[in-house]
Amino acid sequence: MARRKYPFRRILTGGLLLDSKVVDFVTPLIKSYYSKAEGFAPPGIAKREFGFGDYEKKIAFRHYAFKDEAALRRYMVEKAPPFASYSTAFYQYPDARPMENKKLLGAELIFDLDSTDLRLPCQQEHGRDWICDKDLDAIKAETVRLVEDFLMPDFGFSEKDISINFSGNRGYHVHVNNDQAYSLSGDARKAVSGYISGTDMDLQAFFPTIGLKGIGLKGPKPADSGWGGRFAKGLITALDTGVGALESLGMEPDIARKLFRKRAEIIMGISVGNWDKVSIPKKAEFWKAIIGNMSIKQSDSIDSNVTKDMHHLIRMPNTLHGDTALAAKRIASLAELKRFEPMEDAIAFREGTVTVSAGKVQKFVMGGAQFGPYKNERVEVPTYAALYMLLKRVATL
Ligand SMILES: [Zn+2]
Repeated sequence: MARRKYPFRRILTGGLLLDSKVVDFVTPLIKSYYSKAEGFAPPGIAKREFGFGDYEKKIAFRHYAFKDEAALRRYMVEKAPPFASYSTAFYQYPDARPMENKKLLGAELIFDLDSTDLRLPCQQEHGRDWICDKDLDAIKAETVRLVEDFLMPDFGFSEKDISINFSGNRGYHVHVNNDQAYSLSGDARKAVSGYISGTDMDLQAFFPTIGLKGIGLKGPKPADSGWGGRFAKGLITALDTGVGALESLGMEPDIARKLFRKRAEIIMGISVGNWDKVSIPKKAEFWKAIIGNMSIKQSDSIDSNVTKDMHHLIRMPNTLHGDTALAAKRIASLAELKRFEPMEDAIAFREGTVTVSAGKVQKFVMGGAQFGPYKNERVEVPTYAALYMLLKRVATL
């Protein structure tokens, strides 16, 4: 197989230069990481397509194939790509082009959860390129919810079929690996995605009398399966918790207070499917918005929605993320996910310290220590913290 020699050294990203000195510093570290790294070869490796990125683009080169883990490792050690991805699909001829010549055999069902899609208020303060503890905690909770509240109970996937990994920067990837998932058509994937993100929701299915004048509003009960039960239970939990919990479902403060005052009566009503215990203007819009806030926010920032696209390439678990030098760490179980701390557990380079010129750097916590805020100063920090700042383009060597 003749291959072009790809330069993983292009140095522009998002309009921000990555100094060539930084590239020269990071490249040997990437090589040494892949000479030792474990568990980055995906199952069914010979049927996968691979793609690699440079510092400019996360997937700059694709249509690669490797017969086994040793061949993949040789490539990674030699080329030191800052980003490495593989196809969620299995193909008969994974390196064939164009796409249709690959002959699709099936594909994992995947979900890409990215904290920027949560649009937390803190993101306004620190900007989209930076990430704080709040973003990381919130996206972890969202990932737990996807698995615990949707994939397992509503779709019947078992925990052993679900593998989860940190994305290496701002979120998590969830892969479902079983024959039922592999054989889903593109349309079925679209329906799964619509279901969990609540976008295809038919309100009338839950509220058969909505929009009918003079008839009481009948709705789902907490014991109902799927979305109906989740909606009823979610609202009851929020009513029990307080005005803040109701507001976080997207209610205006005055409506939240009104519902909270009448909570005993409302909860009693919902438990028997009577949703008419409080009068709310524009009911349909109101409940639709609440459902939207109970849904899972999937990443819509990359291409089209990842779950729907069967030809998508996704980061290989346990490979490095070229904007952070954190590993896209595979997480063994749901219990492990709940304990997982990315800025500690995904650290790939623990040895030594490096002195860098920090520009304007917001504070961050990594490896249990706080760094910054810095403003145009030389600082000596652990290698992982230095790499994090260098690759985020907020420091230079
Ligand atoms: Zn934040």
